[in-house]
Amino acid sequence: MKKIYIVTLALAALSLQSCKKGGLNLFSIEDDIALGKQTQQEIANNPTEYPILDEATNQAAYNYLYTMRDAILNGSSEFQHKNDFEWKLYIIKRDDVQNAFCTPGGYIYVYTGLMKTLDDASSLAGVMGHEMAHADRRHSTQQMTEVYGIQTLLSFIGGNAQQIAEIAGQLISLKFSRNHETEADTYSVKYLCPTRFRADGAADFFKKLGGSQGVPEFMSTHPDPGNRISNIEKQKTDLNCSDADNYTPGEDITNYNQLKAAI
Ligand SMILES: [Zn+2]
Repeated sequence: MKKIYIVTLALAALSLQSCKKGGLNLFSIEDDIALGKQTQQEIANNPTEYPILDEATNQAAYNYLYTMRDAILNGSSEFQHKNDFEWKLYIIKRDDVQNAFCTPGGYIYVYTGLMKTLDDASSLAGVMGHEMAHADRRHSTQQMTEVYGIQTLLSFIGGNAQQIAEIAGQLISLKFSRNHETEADTYSVKYLCPTRFRADGAADFFKKLGGSQGVPEFMSTHPDPGNRISNIEKQKTDLNCSDADNYTPGEDITNYNQLKAAI
């Protein structure tokens, strides 16, 4: 890990001029992947907080989610890191938590509480698209570049593995900025528009529960849920996306209800 950072941060320092629009990011794609793997490990080491449903014994539920993920990944040409990231899925068995999140490098975690609260596949696909956008747009490492500052990050050249682990440890609790939440909503619509899912699925949770149910990651405290619904609906209109679902067999309401019963 240490060597990776020394090399990539040095290279990043040399290539600051070439940073793309959307915010400065001092980290490399490999850093995103390494940070994601480290977070994945920390989650695996904490089964009390994150009780992951075993994939082998919950195949139907995992297959359902992987089919959904593939429809999103393959349906859209908007992904920049479709082939760089693993896009692995985990279901967390916590019926009391209506949330989902995605680490850098594309490890997607969905709580059973969220799946059980939502009514259909498009609603879940909307949240999944939102979370995948955070990873694909590399919001976490962009945010870390901003929070820690270039000087601090560059000082890690020659820093130790423990410092780097501490930074990675903060990823789980790092809040995305307002702009990143809006961008993730916007990209969720872009991703879903060419698929069989309703493109405004990400707005369904807000419409159903408003702001009364705590602060899930994909919802956050800001921007205002009402503004997020309007932004999502506007994107859908601007892109001329279909108003209807066009599910494949296995994704309709009946089967979504079977999914809920299975978890
Ligand atoms: Zn979010």
